[in-house]
Amino acid sequence: MSEVRFGPGGIPDWLEPMVRYCSRCGGLLGFGPIEGEERDRLSCPSCGFVSYVNPRLVVTTLPITGRGEVMLIRRGIEPGRGRWAQPGGFLEIDETVREAAVRETLEETGLRVEPGAIVGLYSRLHAGVVVVAFEAQIVGGVPTVTRESLETRPFAPEAIPWPEIAFETSLSALRDWVARVRPDLPLPDLTTIGRSFGG
Ligand SMILES: [Zn+2]
Repeated sequence: MSEVRFGPGGIPDWLEPMVRYCSRCGGLLGFGPIEGEERDRLSCPSCGFVSYVNPRLVVTTLPITGRGEVMLIRRGIEPGRGRWAQPGGFLEIDETVREAAVRETLEETGLRVEPGAIVGLYSRLHAGVVVVAFEAQIVGGVPTVTRESLETRPFAPEAIPWPEIAFETSLSALRDWVARVRPDLPLPDLTTIGRSFGG
């Protein structure tokens, strides 16, 4: 994954090929000042279309068992293969955030959940996404392994495998959840768990 380019547009390099052409007329977009806008933007010299590049929303859950454990998935694919993460995925255009939370959790774990409070909302600039994490009570289903997962299993708040968590946002969400449900537990120093995150 390339670095965030805080240059023109602040658009991650990997995203540039997807925002090169005008989605209205197919012309080549240019980058620069737009009348009435406070920052430089991509726009089409041919038809005047302004191409706004905004983050997408990733909806995730921390599925909670009746014993107060969190179900995590050991990922079977890159990025983060072999490491643990919560279920989640991109919000579709025709569903609400809570519908997406229920759908993604069912698809990735086989578990039916009722999303409750939002544990946190996290920006991942280099990935161009915002990640929302719901605490979600498990109300049915059977834990399953999917094409993308090696294993699904519960972890008590005091047994989170911190060094084996896949993503920085997963670390943040789990840390914020533990701080909420078990304020007596020591929290991991996320800067010392630092290493290269795959995405
Ligand atoms: Zn155009």
